[in-house]
Amino acid sequence: MSGEKLSPEKLSAIKRERDDAPLFIEEILSSLGQGRMVLDAGCGAGSFQHSRFPGLDIVSIDIKTPDRVGVDAAARVHLPPNFVLGDLEKLPLKAGSIDFVVLNYALEHVFDANATVTEASRVLKSGGLLYAALPNSRSFDDKFYRFAGYFAKYVLLKVHKRLEHQQRFDFLSLNKLLYSKGFRLLSFCECPSGYTWMNDPRVKKFRASFLKILSFLKSAVKIDLFKNSNYLTLYRYDGTSGIRTVTHICAFCGMQLIDERERDSGPWTCPYCGERNVHC
Ligand SMILES: [Zn+2]
Repeated sequence: MSGEKLSPEKLSAIKRERDDAPLFIEEILSSLGQGRMVLDAGCGAGSFQHSRFPGLDIVSIDIKTPDRVGVDAAARVHLPPNFVLGDLEKLPLKAGSIDFVVLNYALEHVFDANATVTEASRVLKSGGLLYAALPNSRSFDDKFYRFAGYFAKYVLLKVHKRLEHQQRFDFLSLNKLLYSKGFRLLSFCECPSGYTWMNDPRVKKFRASFLKILSFLKSAVKIDLFKNSNYLTLYRYDGTSGIRTVTHICAFCGMQLIDERERDSGPWTCPYCGERNVHC
C-alpha cells in the first residue's frame, strides 16, 4: 500500500456487511426506534448530525457553552438543538432514562473518568448502549497533542489554558473501567489518525507540511505515525461487573487462586492440589 495513490474508486465509505456487528454512531442511531432517548455527552458542536434523526429524543451536554467550544463559525450553524450546560460527572438526568449514550472523543477530556462512566451507567437503561471514541494514549498522535498542549501552556505562557486530554487510556485500561461499571464490549475498531485536531486555526497553517512529513516517514522508512491512534467502541450496559480476579497461579497444578489474606505474603498451600508454593 505504501506509495500507492488512493483513487476515489478504491476508497469506500464504511459499509456494514451482513455478519458485521453494528459499531458506528449512525448505525446505532438508525437502528433505534422512534422516541428513543439519546445523550450526546460532551457534544461540542454535535457528535453527529442531529437533524438527520428527527424521530429520536436527543439531549446534548457539554461543560462549555457552544460558543466556547472552539469551533469555527461554519460549524456553529450546526450546534445541537437540545443543549444543556452540564458536567458529565453529574448528569442532570434521571436514572435509567437513556437508551444510547454517545461519548465521542469526550472521555479523555473529563477530570474524573470513573465518575463519568458511573454517571453514564446510572442514566442508561439496562441493555442500553454506550459508544465511546477516544485516543489511544500510547499513539504518537495523542502524545503529540498533549505535547502541544503543554507547549502552549508553559512555553507560550497560556497558563490559564486547560490541558484538554486529562485522561490516558489504552485498550485494556478502557475496558477495565467500562467492565467494572457493568458494560460489555460488543464491537470495536482501531483507527489511524487523521490529525483532525490540527484544523484548529492556531495550528492549521502547519498541518499540510506536517502530514507530508508523516506520509514520507510512512512510505519511505515504514514508520507509521498514523496507525492505532484511536479506538471506536460500542458497549452494552447490563449492570454486572465483568472483571474477575486472579492473584496467584499454582506452580504445581497451574490452577488459578485468589489470595484473600491482608497483604500477608509468604509460602502458601494450593487448595486444589495441596502442594506448598514458595512464591508470593
Ligand atoms: Zn496446585
